[in-house]
Amino acid sequence: MAQPAVIKNQDLEVTVQDLTYEGMGVAKVAGFPLFIEDALPGEKMQVHVLKVQKQYGFAKVVKRLTDSPDRVAGADGAYIRTGIAPLSILAYPAQLKFKQHQIEELYKKAHLAIDVLSTIGMKHPLGYRNKAQVPVRMVNGELQTGFYKKHSHDLVPIEDFLIQDPKIDHAIVVVRDLLRKYKVPAYDERTNRGVVRNIMVRRGRATHQMMIVLVSRTWQLPHLKDIVEEMTLALPEVTSVVVNLNDKRTNVILGRKSKTIYGQDYLLDKLLGSEFQISPVSFYQVNPVQTEVLYTQAIEAAGLTGKETVIDAYSGIGTISLTMARHAKHVYGVEVVESAVRDAQANAARNHIKNVTFEVGKAEDVIQKWKDADLPVDVLMVDPPRKGLDKSFIDAVGYMKPPKYRLRFLQSGNIGAGFAIVAAGFGYTPKQTQPVDMFPQTQHIESITAMTLN
Ligand code: SAH
Repeated sequence: MAQPAVIKNQDLEVTVQDLTYEGMGVAKVAGFPLFIEDALPGEKMQVHVLKVQKQYGFAKVVKRLTDSPDRVAGADGAYIRTGIAPLSILAYPAQLKFKQHQIEELYKKAHLAIDVLSTIGMKHPLGYRNKAQVPVRMVNGELQTGFYKKHSHDLVPIEDFLIQDPKIDHAIVVVRDLLRKYKVPAYDERTNRGVVRNIMVRRGRATHQMMIVLVSRTWQLPHLKDIVEEMTLALPEVTSVVVNLNDKRTNVILGRKSKTIYGQDYLLDKLLGSEFQISPVSFYQVNPVQTEVLYTQAIEAAGLTGKETVIDAYSGIGTISLTMARHAKHVYGVEVVESAVRDAQANAARNHIKNVTFEVGKAEDVIQKWKDADLPVDVLMVDPPRKGLDKSFIDAVGYMKPPKYRLRFLQSGNIGAGFAIVAAGFGYTPKQTQPVDMFPQTQHIESITAMTLN
């Protein structure tokens, strides 16, 4: 490894060569990498060194001397400082190439040959998020909503979140103004005092229903009745208002207990012709337009004919399970969040789908049970959270492989390559992977990989 070729507070001129997986520019000074925010490959700039560590350092732009042809003019620095949209400075076609390239690099490092297809992007890659979770804090004596500056708890007040449904942005401003009007104290994390910690809003893209969740440190929320009355008047799409209790000193946003104080206990939305109910703490894909693309690709890659037994691990509210059930013999879903499993069961009934079974539990435990019961699995679908698959899950899958059946693995998420490598050890070959851009303007990448038993 190169010795640090720079020192703290040094000013120098560099040319950016690459982008990290987090979307920061990388410039090398005598082989020593410097990470720079708001910097694109090819750009020359004067930078100031902020921090030097053993293997890399951080610098900030003092003056940009040249612009990349892929730079988006007039991008707002707040989206980079907060990490809301670190790639918003990069033209969208270049973002799609960046994501494809990142996946290629992952597989290359693992010495696995695979065809990485072009990323499927969005026609309108802004305002796509159907969900917002914004902190509520006092800033200079005024209650504000916005987002934290990266690696800090300093709130940057924001009204236009760029990638959220503008109707959601508007709702947050309405709620913020009502909290101000009724002088509801914002939460203070230093003292664990105050009341409202977060506002969560979900809006059904197909149904235009809106759910507002006030995350509160106490059940006693001053003037709640007036606030709800004014809120529902100002926002006619609101079909439910929920108070979620979170009284702990924690970074976790939602607490375990919720009370519906207006309307339904859940939000309704539609995907690929099915209707889904979504409870406040259940997972629901945040980009509904691309979710339909992702699911369609996944089902196609699974090659379902109507005869297959399918496991959908990490099944959430059953969106993939129920969509696949229409093309399979039976689908078994497993999910750890109880309310999500209740949603999934209700969603099966709501859509008159009978060939599904949902179980509450950890995928790594339940798969063991299914393996012991010799469940004749043809297709295994996994869509795990970011931390990826548990080793015991992968092992169970490896020993489950029924000789008569071809197994296919579908994997989305940036841990896909890791999973593909392990699965290759069990005799599965990934042939190609299809990135789908679920999170435009951000560094996040998802890709579908189908693997077949050799
Ligand atoms: N496939 C679903 C949900 C994907 S998100 C969809 O497309 O909507 C991942 C889900 O895995 C979440 O619902 C989360 O609650 C669940 N989960 C996290 N850890 C788990 C585990 N160990 N076992 C089972 N489910 C888990």
